[in-house]
Amino acid sequence: GFSTATAIEEPIHPPVQVQYTQLLINGKFVDSASGKTFPTLDPRTGEVIAHVAEGDVEDINRAVVAARKAFDEGPWPKMTGYERSRILNRFADLIEKHNDEIAALETWDNGKPYEQAAQAEVPMLARLIRYYAGWADKIHGLIVPADGPHHVQVLHEPIGVAGQIIPWNFPLLMFAWKVGPALACGNTIVLKTAEQTPLSALYVSKLFHEAGLPDGVLNVISGFGPTAGAALASHMDVDKLAFTGSTDTGKIVLGLAARSNLKPVTLELGGKSPFIIMDDADIDQAVELAHFALFFNQGQCCCAGSRTFVHERVYDEFVEKAKARALKRIVGDPFKKGVEQGPQIDEEQFNKILRYIKYGVDSGATLVTGGDRIGSKGYYIQPTIFSDVHDKMKIAQDEIFGPVQSILKFRDLDEVIHRANATRYGLAAGVFTNNLDTANTLMRALRVGTVWINCFDVFDAAVPFGGYKMSGNGREKGIDSLKNYLQIKAVVTPLKNPAW
Ligand code: NAD
Repeated sequence: GFSTATAIEEPIHPPVQVQYTQLLINGKFVDSASGKTFPTLDPRTGEVIAHVAEGDVEDINRAVVAARKAFDEGPWPKMTGYERSRILNRFADLIEKHNDEIAALETWDNGKPYEQAAQAEVPMLARLIRYYAGWADKIHGLIVPADGPHHVQVLHEPIGVAGQIIPWNFPLLMFAWKVGPALACGNTIVLKTAEQTPLSALYVSKLFHEAGLPDGVLNVISGFGPTAGAALASHMDVDKLAFTGSTDTGKIVLGLAARSNLKPVTLELGGKSPFIIMDDADIDQAVELAHFALFFNQGQCCCAGSRTFVHERVYDEFVEKAKARALKRIVGDPFKKGVEQGPQIDEEQFNKILRYIKYGVDSGATLVTGGDRIGSKGYYIQPTIFSDVHDKMKIAQDEIFGPVQSILKFRDLDEVIHRANATRYGLAAGVFTNNLDTANTLMRALRVGTVWINCFDVFDAAVPFGGYKMSGNGREKGIDSLKNYLQIKAVVTPLKNPAW
């Protein structure tokens, strides 16, 4: 059977109160124009946590008007970078002060282990905000030499009103990846959160205003994709769109942007990332890392190492040990100590994952362990492993977004390079080897935005993240993320006395 957390029965954080459920427009919490609300659910039970204002077209319009005014009339884009950086840093101070409460709210709404939220995700939110606070007073243009007698300046200006649509798997990190660079560059924002996880963004955005963020700079709309999300993507007065979510929805929002005002769009989409284990590697370490690469965050990571390629010489041993590790995984109430895996986000994802498990069985892959739900309440799924997975199987092609590891056997380097790249995605890859030449070859040959060598899911504020192929375009985090939020203006003036 599967381990369940029985050691400590008391939750490690007391229940939190939900304080903010309205839309945040122009610095104030307001009801939706329609007066409608929708429930946000506790993934442990499916029970209602709170009813949240449901934003729609009219609310997006109101929020864009507020963001436009805050952009055109200031003070935000006109402030010095230093003043903006001070507000961002004060926001990070408040995040640190309320770390545990924010983490508890996130665990409640999302189902991720509280210890991970409190020790990693919320501190990383503060770290990202500080990283962008560091950029706010270092963004500037350049002077370029011209052929003729001309003085040429290139100005870097904020792009205007940014529309941002985020998913539910890392609500706070996605919030930081989006608002950090946009605000450092002096833009204003309308952010639409995922309908599954509206609560934490409202809470931290309130803190942001306490830190001195002017009204209208950051507007937060809870609501659904085809209504509020589509209204934002197709709005004529939104100057830039940033989206994270599925590849299918990415295509939709890109189309909406094209058919409205041609706003530039950055996309962070799905993946089917290979994790390649060579025969020279330490098997126990490889098993542990491949386990983490797939099962972390209930398997709900865009960059999950969801195709575990194992060299034939170590394949049988690897499968046995991977099974033993999965059986040891502690699944249970995410508020309890030591829990590694909580419930999936909602019933839809839960059913989708169980459907994929059935596809795996039906297509002839070997179900090594797991394969079913846990209990009869909430959205818990057994850590599941398939071996004998072949490239053409659906479970090797599609993003499952759940705790389902697919193990594939390979023979040599050229073969695994070819197979690892034979996907429409190109988000990330893991490589496990002790051979420098092998590492160098794989690192260069893999058509992906991130290669983790002998590690996985190492995220740093300064390191760019993004996809090749249908995993998206543009980069978030790092210096490259600023480009998404800047207009480039060339200014040319004649030099009357070129000799000087
Ligand atoms: P999704 O792409 O539908 O949702 C992501 C965001 O887009 C949400 O805020 C949603 O409200 C919004 N959205 C949905 N339809 C929209 C539309 N027509 N116009 C504008 N915005 C819209 O993803 P999902 O339904 O939550 O999950 C489905 C699958 O997407 C998952 O199983 C997983 O494979 C993938 N996913 C990927 C990521 C990632 O980080 N790359 C995150 C979440 C989900």
